Amino acid sequence: MIATHQLRCTDCNTEISGDAVSANFRCPLCSGLYEVVYPWSASTKTGEPANKTLLPNPSALRYLWTERRSSTLAEDQSGVWRFRNLLPIVQDKNITTLREGNTPLYDLPRCAKALGLHWLLAKHQGMNPTGSFKDTGMTAALSVAVERGFEWVACASTGNTSAAMAAYAARAGLRSIVFIPEGKIAWGKLSQSMDYGALTVQLKTDFDGCVRLVNELVKAHPIYLLNSVNPYRLEGQKTPAFEMVEQMDWQVPEHVIVPGGNLANSAALAKGFAEMKLLGLIPRVPKISIIQAQGANPLYLSMQANGGRELIPVVAETRASAIRIGHPASFGKAVRALATHGGWCEEVSEQEIALAKAQIGAEGVGCEPASAVTLAGLKKLVAQGKVGPEERVVLILTGHTLKDSDYTIHYHKGDLLTAEEKAAISPADAELNSLLQKPPIVLEANRDVVLRTLDEHMARTLQVQPA
Ligand SMILES: *Cc1c(COP(=O)(O)O)cnc(C)c1O
Ligand SMILES: [Zn+2]
Repeated sequence: MIATHQLRCTDCNTEISGDAVSANFRCPLCSGLYEVVYPWSASTKTGEPANKTLLPNPSALRYLWTERRSSTLAEDQSGVWRFRNLLPIVQDKNITTLREGNTPLYDLPRCAKALGLHWLLAKHQGMNPTGSFKDTGMTAALSVAVERGFEWVACASTGNTSAAMAAYAARAGLRSIVFIPEGKIAWGKLSQSMDYGALTVQLKTDFDGCVRLVNELVKAHPIYLLNSVNPYRLEGQKTPAFEMVEQMDWQVPEHVIVPGGNLANSAALAKGFAEMKLLGLIPRVPKISIIQAQGANPLYLSMQANGGRELIPVVAETRASAIRIGHPASFGKAVRALATHGGWCEEVSEQEIALAKAQIGAEGVGCEPASAVTLAGLKKLVAQGKVGPEERVVLILTGHTLKDSDYTIHYHKGDLLTAEEKAAISPADAELNSLLQKPPIVLEANRDVVLRTLDEHMARTLQVQPA
């Protein structure tokens, strides 16, 4: 049987077979990360497929993918495995799916108008089974764990990876171990890993410390590592690129904007677009921009200081806990994604994230704080003239608003930010915040009091209703 895929080191280009990889998914020659390559993938020398006769036919693929949407098979209903021709990494019988993917592409008309853009779209990956984009990657890598016969899986996580891993492991009947930084993940996420039956270990360190320890664990025991150094995660995470283009009737957006934490997701989407172009499904790739929180900005710093040639790690601090990462594993892959697709890396402040999240909430869409960096970053790109009014921009909303409801409540009650952070808000943004903040009103259960108070509020709302 011909192997369906190989793993190629993204630093030294050495190729190995999928089952020969070491427990930490690092290249033994240069400690680089791998990517999954197929017989039809681009060769590193020519950029063209090594063997053109092995290219799948693009119109047959489009037809098949549409057709599968009406199938009753679980692997056809999944928005990841529907595209399995382009990720043939496991046999169908080993697929573990919760019918992830097939997420909505919303328009955000008020945000677009405020930015002076004709339109703005949001691909909401928070509408996945466990509420984040991590499901698309986890269904892929967990299915590989099943195929390889593992009984235990593990990850270090800022919360969403552990929620997804715990759920998929439970579905497959595997056992899972989660390492999370104590006190630094949102309750919604912590509760999920317990609900789905993971062994949850809270370590008195940050995410980067959790990564170091999970690597020790997989060296000592036959446990399958499900952090995003595992290249199969990225195979699942590339599929929203396929879906997005399909949802736009096979048109390509000009620009895709992604939050940057450990930096695997930006790389995965870049891979998805590049593969579609190689196969002739699309004529060009979109720009991909990556946005980081100011307090967790190693990619931003490194791009500014040395064009991304060398990682400058930071001690990460931000309320957007999903991207509170100082030493991103997929740094090199993300730098290459920026180089091949064009686009920029920006950083945004805590104040800017809070406002952007409220604006996305006010569209009836909502997202978790880490996802809102995309809108905050887009504002900067528009202000710098890097995005024009005609461009179709797609924000990748990575997580569901219910993941971190504490954050939302603090924002609306006005006690999310420190006095110093509040003082740094521009007058225009302060005005927007005061329109958007909706603290709950506590009243006596008395008819007159209720009606009088609501009359006052309704009159005021009419005066300040934004255009
Ligand atoms: C994991 C995560 C991110 C960061 O993705 P990376 O691939 O680590 O860059 C952003 N937002 C949310 C909600 C996440 O869960
Ligand atoms: Zn290597």
